[in-house]
Amino acid sequence: MDVHVAAVGAAAGALRLQRSDVAVAWGARGGRGSVAVTAADEDALTLAWDAATRALAVTGLSPSSVDGLWWGTTSPPFADGPSHAYLAAALGLPEYAGGALLTGSPHAGMDALLGAWDAVAAGSARTALVVASEAPSPGLGSAHERAAGAGAAALLLTVRPGPAKLMHRRTQARPVLDRYRGSAERDVRDLYDARLAREQILAPQIGAIIDAMEACGDVTTWSLADLDGRTAAALAAQRDAPDAAAGVVALVGETGTAGPLLGALGALGTVGTVAPIAYGGGRATGVSIVVREPVPGAGAIGDALAGGRMVTYPEALRARGVLTASGDPVPMGVPPTSAAFVRGNGELLAFLGARCIDCGVISTPPSLHPTCINCGGAKLEPVPLARTGTVHTFVVNQAMPPPFVAPLPIAIVDLDDGARVKVQVVGDGSDLAVGCQVRMVLRRYALERGAPVYGFKAEVA
Ligand SMILES: [Zn+2]
Repeated sequence: MDVHVAAVGAAAGALRLQRSDVAVAWGARGGRGSVAVTAADEDALTLAWDAATRALAVTGLSPSSVDGLWWGTTSPPFADGPSHAYLAAALGLPEYAGGALLTGSPHAGMDALLGAWDAVAAGSARTALVVASEAPSPGLGSAHERAAGAGAAALLLTVRPGPAKLMHRRTQARPVLDRYRGSAERDVRDLYDARLAREQILAPQIGAIIDAMEACGDVTTWSLADLDGRTAAALAAQRDAPDAAAGVVALVGETGTAGPLLGALGALGTVGTVAPIAYGGGRATGVSIVVREPVPGAGAIGDALAGGRMVTYPEALRARGVLTASGDPVPMGVPPTSAAFVRGNGELLAFLGARCIDCGVISTPPSLHPTCINCGGAKLEPVPLARTGTVHTFVVNQAMPPPFVAPLPIAIVDLDDGARVKVQVVGDGSDLAVGCQVRMVLRRYALERGAPVYGFKAEVA
């Protein structure tokens, strides 16, 4: 069965770091441009949510009609835990949604695309969401640290005829080390011999896939994996293969498993054939996508990746959790393994309220309100809360014990559906005012005893 691309979306980390700042810290020079870095309340899951939410929004498709989520990332929030279930719940997918979490190398994003493609082609999913996201953890002082960026790409696949169609695929594997992170290690290691990696591994593997894809038909735009920051440009020049990923790398850096898909998304706005080629863990895979008319969301990719708040290298290290304050961290009063989270995590992730069947008023949070806050009625139904609202009042905490970082703004927000919520606010609060418009975005509130705690924060619109 043919498989079509119905929509796409992208996201990048909220912070930007000059490559030259990293170089200077390690006694080196050079490095042009900047890379995207995750803020302290972002990770591979929040980036994936951001990109997937955008892809769903441009189609107007309800998340409840998505049959499965295929998510590729080398940095899942849990090494062993409910990463996939958390993201599916936060996106509002149905509880029976299938799919898979793919990880283990920068090839994982391509694995996600291939898995979803097969499921839709086989008829086990009619609509499948593919997300590749990366919140990199490069080794300190490594070349990878100067190049690595945080980003996410999302594609919505469907059996219904759409503006673009998945055509060909080709994989080639070879058991070699390129870059890697050992079991129980936090950071990714470079090969010490960059030239060996480029000339003997990356260029021949990716080059072989370019040859194979060209044999299947004309490709107008490529999106090449670029693990070392040099191979893609060299191959593009050598093979006369225009590489759309280069533009994305210039904006946000080398986004690992998200890179080849992210690089291809913008090109899906133009009629032609686009071929992303992923590489990682010894495997190279190329796919070709034939674009008949612009794919919804493709025109917004540049905007989704632009902007970001410039930070210094120490600020970036702090946001990444590499540089931590000493002192007496205050553990959460309600640990993430407690009954409160077992009962309430679903409503936190999906941002739900309890609507009164009798009077229509929405009480939040539902687990704390067995009866309606307006009429006292006990007949309540869970409903997704509005994602936009107005600030009723706010406070900016200027002193916080670790692990929290001051300033920490908290606001009472009147949502557009009439519900009132108390939430943290993205940023330092300098852009907040009573009456200002906000939108609700998924962020990581805390990393507690190894478990991320997610919830929605307000962001000034
Ligand atoms: Zn009521």
